[in-house]
Amino acid sequence: MEAERREKIVHCYLENPLWSASRLAKQLKLPRNTVWRVIKRYKETLTTIRKPQANRRSVTVDRELRGKILKTIKRNPNLSDRDLARKFGAVHSTVRRTRLREGIKSYRANKQPNRTIKQNSVVKIRARKLYDQVLTKFDGCLLMDDETYVKADFGQIPGQKFYLATARGDVPAKFKFIFADKFARKFMIWQGICSCGKKTKVFVTNKTMTSELYQKECLQKRILPFIRSHDHPVMFWPDLASCHYSKVVQEWYAEKWVQFVPKNLKPPNCPQFRPIEKYWAIMRRRLKAKGKVVKDINKMTTWWNKIAKTMDEEGVRRLMSRVTGTIREFLGNRDESFYPYFFLKV
Ligand SMILES: [Zn+2]
Repeated sequence: MEAERREKIVHCYLENPLWSASRLAKQLKLPRNTVWRVIKRYKETLTTIRKPQANRRSVTVDRELRGKILKTIKRNPNLSDRDLARKFGAVHSTVRRTRLREGIKSYRANKQPNRTIKQNSVVKIRARKLYDQVLTKFDGCLLMDDETYVKADFGQIPGQKFYLATARGDVPAKFKFIFADKFARKFMIWQGICSCGKKTKVFVTNKTMTSELYQKECLQKRILPFIRSHDHPVMFWPDLASCHYSKVVQEWYAEKWVQFVPKNLKPPNCPQFRPIEKYWAIMRRRLKAKGKVVKDINKMTTWWNKIAKTMDEEGVRRLMSRVTGTIREFLGNRDESFYPYFFLKV
């Protein structure tokens, strides 16, 4: 308690070095005498700890170092505590303590598509059209599809892997390592998710997706019955991949009366507008945690369905409900560098 109070006083004093003891006391709602005594001792010893022999290091950092650290962080927030410590010949724990005291925490940077200025303006124009002409007008389900790749050895699915142990490394190798194999076998997974919370049947293959395969397996066999199971209109928002907008496919949309988001309304390279990306990320993470190795397409399908079930209709609805809001936020923000992102924490 005593130590905490002393630290508070010193901190306040370092923030406002020109203030008198009375003013600091008033600010901290502490007796002036106490404040004066602590600061006096601090100036004499440059420490708030009463006994230097106590088994604890000084909790204050000299002002000069603190200033340097803050200034450098402001200039380059990518530097680690260790980088800063090396730069100023300090201990990294001192750097960490200093920044934490200033409320500077460490965060992981998120992936952001790297767009050119020209692409950015296309994104703006199309997002605006999409918002005005579809999202705020259409009063039905929004159905989104996409494809992703999953390694046959789930343990090799990219992403972080964690293990629980009482000590680092104290688990068998298969839990503590990621065995990376560049040529590992993988499957292509295709699926659609809808704003009502339902998912289409999954399509798993080890072939490359072509317009023909897409039309036959995805559109005809899975999308069409799915749309027809609705008793209200459905707007289909396919992925931007060219095979989803080929001539054959466009004709199919027309023939089957499938309403779809036209190509020229779709912001390019904008995964943050497509919650299905988040859906993939969650599914991949859950599969990875299983650590299984599947042998064939059937086994892959079974596993995928098992994992997909862990996200219920409410979960899918929640993901899909963010589309309009995310685009509205994006359009309302003038800062070009700001893109609200779906992949915040998965
Ligand atoms: Zn629906």
